[in-house]
Amino acid sequence: MESTLTARDRVGVQDFVLLENYTSEAAFIENLRRRFGEKLIYTYIGSVLVSVNPYKDLEIYSKAHMERYRGVSFYEISPHIYAVSDNTYRAMRTERRDQCILISGESGAGKTEASKKILQYYATTCPVTDHMSTIRDRLLQSNPVLEAFGNAKTLRNDNSSRFGKYMDVQFDFRGAPIGGHILNYLLEKSRVVHQNHGERNFHIFYQLLEGGEQDQLSKLGLERNAQKYHYLVKGCCPRVSSINDKSDWKTVRKALTVIGFHEEEVEDLLNIIASVLHLGNTQFGEGEDGETQITTESHLTYLSKVRTSNMNSTSSHRLTHSLILHFKGPLSFEQAVAARDALAKAVYGRAFTWLVAKINQSLAFKWIVFYLQDEVYNSSKGSSSVIGLLDIYGFEVFQHNSFEQFCINYCNEKLQQLFIKLTLKSEQEEYEAEGITWEPVKYFDNKIICDLVEEKHKGFISILDEECLRPGEPSDISFLEKLEDTLGGHAHFVTHKLANGKTRKAVGREEFRLIHYAGEVNYTVNGELANQSVNSRTVICQSDNQILSQCFHREEVTTQKRPETAATQFKNSLAKLIEILMSKEPSYVRCIKPNDAKQSGRFDEALVRHQVKYLGLMENLRVRRAGFAYRRRYEAFLQRYKSLCPGTWPNWQGRLADGVATLVQHLGYKAEEYKLGKTKIFIRFPKTLFTTEDALEA
Ligand code: ATP
Ligand code: MG
Repeated sequence: MESTLTARDRVGVQDFVLLENYTSEAAFIENLRRRFGEKLIYTYIGSVLVSVNPYKDLEIYSKAHMERYRGVSFYEISPHIYAVSDNTYRAMRTERRDQCILISGESGAGKTEASKKILQYYATTCPVTDHMSTIRDRLLQSNPVLEAFGNAKTLRNDNSSRFGKYMDVQFDFRGAPIGGHILNYLLEKSRVVHQNHGERNFHIFYQLLEGGEQDQLSKLGLERNAQKYHYLVKGCCPRVSSINDKSDWKTVRKALTVIGFHEEEVEDLLNIIASVLHLGNTQFGEGEDGETQITTESHLTYLSKVRTSNMNSTSSHRLTHSLILHFKGPLSFEQAVAARDALAKAVYGRAFTWLVAKINQSLAFKWIVFYLQDEVYNSSKGSSSVIGLLDIYGFEVFQHNSFEQFCINYCNEKLQQLFIKLTLKSEQEEYEAEGITWEPVKYFDNKIICDLVEEKHKGFISILDEECLRPGEPSDISFLEKLEDTLGGHAHFVTHKLANGKTRKAVGREEFRLIHYAGEVNYTVNGELANQSVNSRTVICQSDNQILSQCFHREEVTTQKRPETAATQFKNSLAKLIEILMSKEPSYVRCIKPNDAKQSGRFDEALVRHQVKYLGLMENLRVRRAGFAYRRRYEAFLQRYKSLCPGTWPNWQGRLADGVATLVQHLGYKAEEYKLGKTKIFIRFPKTLFTTEDALEA
């Protein structure tokens, strides 16, 4: 245990519940800072792991480290992502209950790295047989593929995940990984057509241009120069020092093969990537009669030529067809550009969804294989369990917050609600199981904010749907007015109008403010409604490209059903996610970014304080500390402290509970300082434990 007196001063406490002044944010941050200074990036809040991004490779992820954490109880060894991995795995094995690990934090805080480390831990330490090694490899290889298509360089992170990801890893009765499934959320499609200064498009575009073979590029009509493509130059940032596109391309190509993509499928996929680049270079001008027309023949020619495996000589690629269809009727220049960009985003978005579905097919556990190969599996096929990994964007507040931040923050409200509910529930269950009286904890229930967003008929999303789906052009202003009519006066909703008829300066005329559990955020509605109608009614469903034709179903185009808005789609997928998580036993990893400069060794207190707030860590600690700061199983407690009492030394022979009672009596614990449960001792204040620890040192 690190927490001896001297070490405690230097490296802080390894569990925040042992902080004397646990309600003090300053003490919390000081503890993090001290530990970070000693390269101790992990700290617990009870069973929650807080992780601070070190921005450099630490020597703590070797195979030997993995071994050290295997089968070891949480508190006996310093906090680590492997401890969480191992405890989750053991709980799944012994309790036969599905588990999930929820990883949150802001961009660049280390969520994806954490999820990869967990996966590596399982890949290395779980038993595997020959035929299962394929699944294990596919699980690992799904990462580079999804990162190539779903990650990009942003100002905050050179490898930023631009989608939310939930991944189930399925284990058999022997604890070996046998399958997996991925759910993806909200890919940031706008990046396909626009990047802010200093940012890039998705990695795959640059990888293909840098690493693709020359004849492959020629076939796709591409030049090996990212500068040539409008969709790749917006951020003025083709190269990034920390990224090697060429070697990443090789990794991705290999990974696609390991996952089981056929050559034709890879070709189709690359055709889509190329199509998007060609679309981006399609320019418009004015025709003889003043109408907008396409002026870049060469790219159109390419788009009409993009061939796929089953194309016959007479059919032309329907991307051109759909592009031209977009221009039926008089369009202004701006409308033409918007239509082109909408098409590019839709194509890329659908291809990403297809990619995930394809990876899922390859990760799907196929009983029949095992039935043929190993009869034992057949007899035990009902007994597989799952560990889910959620790597999802944390709470976001920018200068300008749009629909995207709204979705992300709404998602965080839902996860916070789940977190509070489950933490309190598990605390209560433990108290009850141990026969200790439960003392209710006061906490802020953010259900009120979730309802504000999602309630039927009168919630934010319902109002948005109504406005988008009514006949005529949706209008931002009338939407804002409707919001005011319905939600005005709600404690968590604010617009620029004050009750006395005056104007609130802090909220703009095209904005509304939500008061989230983590703080206030102003959202702009300007132009958002136009983005809401799902751009699926393009005619790509007839495409010869297998992927595209699978992505855009014919019914979508012909059906008269009202399409769902993006907000409703997100709400529904979030509800499903919460349902999945509710059915599992959760563990939490909260990631923190120590500075904005991606530098090692720098701890920016203001930035960290911000995140401690948005991650709800103080509330978390308060709930965890409401009852007892510390709890330990009797045998572990006796084992550690038995030398302090002649009655328990060298070995206690009787009931464990009696041994612990004898020990704490000898140590002079007062009645209000502790409680004895069925299998554990509960200690209310850290001081009591520290005094005992110090006695051990003396
Ligand atoms: P985003 O929300 O943008 O996807 P993220 O939370 O997933 O961000 P990561 O991509 O996991 O952030 O981490 C950002 C970078 O920080 C990594 O590329 C890596 O350089 C560094 N990093 C994160 N965690 C660690 C770690 N445990 N050890 C060393 N470096 C790390
Ligand atoms: Mg990430």
